[in-house]
Amino acid sequence: MSDRAPYLVERRLPTEESRELVALVRDIAQREIAPRAAQEEEAGRFPREVFSLLSESGLLGLPYDSAYGGGDQPYEVYLQVLEELAAARLTVGLGVSVHSLACHAVAGYGTKEQRTEHLPAMLGGGLLGAYCLSEPASGSDAASLRTKAVRDGDDWVLTGTKAWITHGGIADFYTVLARTGVEGPRGITAFLVPGDAEGLNAAAPEKKMGMKGSPTAQLNFDGVRVGDARRIGEEGQGFAIALSALDSGRLGIAACAIGVAQAALSEAVGYATGRQQFGRPIADFQGLRFMLADMATQIEAGRALYLEAARLRDEGKPFSRQAAMAKLFCTDLAMRVTVDAVQVLGGYGYTQDFPVERLMREAKVLQIVEGTNQIQRMVIARHLAGPETR
Ligand SMILES: Cc1cc2nc3c(=O)[nH]c(=O)nc-3n(C[C@H](O)[C@H](O)[C@H](O)COP(=O)(O)OP(=O)(O)OC[C@H]3O[C@@H](n4cnc5c(N)ncnc54)[C@H](O)[C@@H]3O)c2cc1C
Repeated sequence: MSDRAPYLVERRLPTEESRELVALVRDIAQREIAPRAAQEEEAGRFPREVFSLLSESGLLGLPYDSAYGGGDQPYEVYLQVLEELAAARLTVGLGVSVHSLACHAVAGYGTKEQRTEHLPAMLGGGLLGAYCLSEPASGSDAASLRTKAVRDGDDWVLTGTKAWITHGGIADFYTVLARTGVEGPRGITAFLVPGDAEGLNAAAPEKKMGMKGSPTAQLNFDGVRVGDARRIGEEGQGFAIALSALDSGRLGIAACAIGVAQAALSEAVGYATGRQQFGRPIADFQGLRFMLADMATQIEAGRALYLEAARLRDEGKPFSRQAAMAKLFCTDLAMRVTVDAVQVLGGYGYTQDFPVERLMREAKVLQIVEGTNQIQRMVIARHLAGPETR
């Protein structure tokens, strides 16, 4: 197993505090997370203790209000923290991003009572969240979801199946989108469901190509009863809440993709400068130098794109188009860069002795989650040409 190559990023951060924060995270990531990543991914082990450590260190609620236990950090800082975590291990970076996504509904749409009651434990009290939108028969067409919530006195009773849920079966709380009314997007409502709710059962985790340490599971809601106090937002507002969460979540995926790509580039540079062929380091050969230059250029362009979207968000401006562009561009480049990193390492790149094969398998999922890259193109095109005519 190779030691991780030195990290090559020069960051532009807004304050001294944020520079110290990102440096602290890089230290935790490279010291506590990266050294165990390969072995634990191979074993399919979820590092719950790392999430406890992140929670204790105030790193699970960074972009949220400090009045409720968050870190008050702008998105441009939070995303660079995610990038550092994902560079060390995608299971952790993506896990933090999904946790943030799961907190979005209560933080953005909950009543004051709901925020006061739930957020401190969610943002800094050690709880881990999950976000439940997808179902077996509704992925890209999320508005056709069928999980039902039926009113019964002061309660709601949830019945149905959610699919592909990151942290499914191990989360302490689930943000669940369920149908309470008409077909389509206007009949959907958001609920906050405790992980130990009666009637909530997780299937065995999916056997995935990568990110094996991150459990992804179907969840069965068999008459799960929650009080109306756990309905988040208005009845019928759930799909708008889900989409607003995804705009921000997509930036998290973009940042994770840059972390994975940067880790692959660091490995490729480290290997190419050490490996000799024809009596010289292979990094001397223009064929490889140009590959490394292209990898680095794509990464910097992707980082600039996600940061531009984040800064718009931080200024309270619309950023949905830029978030879709960042998700699309960063995850596609992460796929190309990790494939190229395997190529730079030659035969060794194709083995588990080096991390690049794992990074290549991990990059693939980022083109699929939180809206496939086909769906991102649809979102971007709608901003350009308006809605499709049929
Ligand atoms: C590891 C992992 C973790 C996940 N975590 C979560 C989670 O925590 N919570 C959650 O809710 N979901 C989660 N998902 C689900 C993920 O968001 C969906 O897989 C994704 O939205 C695609 O849905 P689908 O798999 O049903 O594919 P489908 O929607 O069936 O799409 C299949 C193919 O058709 C293409 N396609 C579909 N419609 C169109 C169109 N109109 N135009 C062009 N192409 C189209 C898609 O791009 C794709 O290539 C996760 C998935 C994975 C793999």
